[in-house]
Amino acid sequence: MFDNLSDKLDKALHVLKGHGQITEINVAETLKEVRRALLDADVNFKIAKEFTNRVKEKALGQNVLTNLQPGQLMVKIVKDELTELMGGDAEGIDLSSTPSVILMSGLQGSGKTTFSGKLANFLKKKKNRKSLLVACDVYRPAAIDQLHVVGEQIGVEVYSDRGNTDPVAIAKAGVAHAKAIGASVVIVDTAGRLAVDEVMMTEISNIHKAITPNETLFVVDSMTGQDAVNTAKAFNDVLNFDGVILTKLDGDTRGGAAISIKSVVDKPIKFIGTGEKMEAIDVFYPSRMAERILGMGDVVSLVERAQEQFDEEQARKIQKKIAKNKFGFDDFLSQIQQIKKMGNMKDLMGMIPGMGKALKGLDIDDDAFKHIEAIIHSMTPDERSNPSKLNTSRKKRIAKGSGRSIQDVNQLLKQFDQMSKMMKMMQGGGGKKMMQMMQN
Ligand code: GDP
Repeated sequence: MFDNLSDKLDKALHVLKGHGQITEINVAETLKEVRRALLDADVNFKIAKEFTNRVKEKALGQNVLTNLQPGQLMVKIVKDELTELMGGDAEGIDLSSTPSVILMSGLQGSGKTTFSGKLANFLKKKKNRKSLLVACDVYRPAAIDQLHVVGEQIGVEVYSDRGNTDPVAIAKAGVAHAKAIGASVVIVDTAGRLAVDEVMMTEISNIHKAITPNETLFVVDSMTGQDAVNTAKAFNDVLNFDGVILTKLDGDTRGGAAISIKSVVDKPIKFIGTGEKMEAIDVFYPSRMAERILGMGDVVSLVERAQEQFDEEQARKIQKKIAKNKFGFDDFLSQIQQIKKMGNMKDLMGMIPGMGKALKGLDIDDDAFKHIEAIIHSMTPDERSNPSKLNTSRKKRIAKGSGRSIQDVNQLLKQFDQMSKMMKMMQGGGGKKMMQMMQN
């Protein structure tokens, strides 16, 4: 996420690292580079300029008051200002009514339908809420089909009325249907056009008036940079929406939209989309995003994701197995499956402080575990439970079966062995011993 921007900001802030003191001159030099980095990331010129002016004022003002090194101080100020720029505190969505109505707006292709599904899935899994999805695109039958496919995937009912050409009537009937089936949230997906036009604006505005949503959300593709900001402005003028959804942050976006949108429309970014899958949705936390942009990682989100996937019962089973020396490759495989459920590998590793930079240019994909899985799948069930049986001829067979080399098989066995030892030590309260092992 935002690799280029992170890299440039890191270089800019590096200028101060060797200096003992913050001066007008070295601050100006650093901020010139910071501004350039922001402009390259497609941040609006005025916003970038105001941003660096604020940072300058703070840096010169705080210099005498702190024990921090100039480099650290600058990073802190930039982080705080970036957080502020992207919205300060995280904002939730209003689910106070029954049903709570959420209206989706945005251009065609921005990711409205996908996000409608993600949100329904998120509310179902995290908030135990029953949603109804309503298909209001009367122009593209394929859009209605798409919402039905999404609904089926996540087990959420979809309301549509194929012959009806009046989106306002469909939206109203959808809300009534939600009441009838006892859904506590109604998510209304609307038609989008390829560009902002009057007909679309009138239509969405009429739907808005007819169903008085609790939340009107504007969905925007973060890859569209400055255009994203302009479109947001046009929709906000008509709808006075409540929040922004930034999609496709997993792509090669430069980050300008994420940084600029809040200050242009003065509405918070509420969620981000980070992939095509229904699970690829995150609550937007400005401070965590600022930390990620500055290469400081995002340990809080990482831990949260790990907790979400944590299966207590399975953990207990594994603990027992470790204690009895019965931890096998099947358990190893199920651990890998859990890690994979946490999300895209590169994204996960980028959340570890300092890792972002180290990963730059490395090609880590979702298949990072593919080879390991192939090797394990080539073992017999007996071998998986009793890795000590793996002699040379068995290893050769496994290498052949998985299309890997015998060295790969040996390496995996070694890693497995180390991991088993480490887990046993952790269980036995041997923290000290483990530290020694890690230092060696
Ligand atoms: P709509 O026309 O606004 O309803 O947009 P869709 O929901 O149909 O999305 C348009 C395309 O963008 C589809 O191919 C989606 O799979 C894709 N898409 C949506 N959200 C994301 C996202 O967060 N990341 C990525 N990579 N693709 C997305």
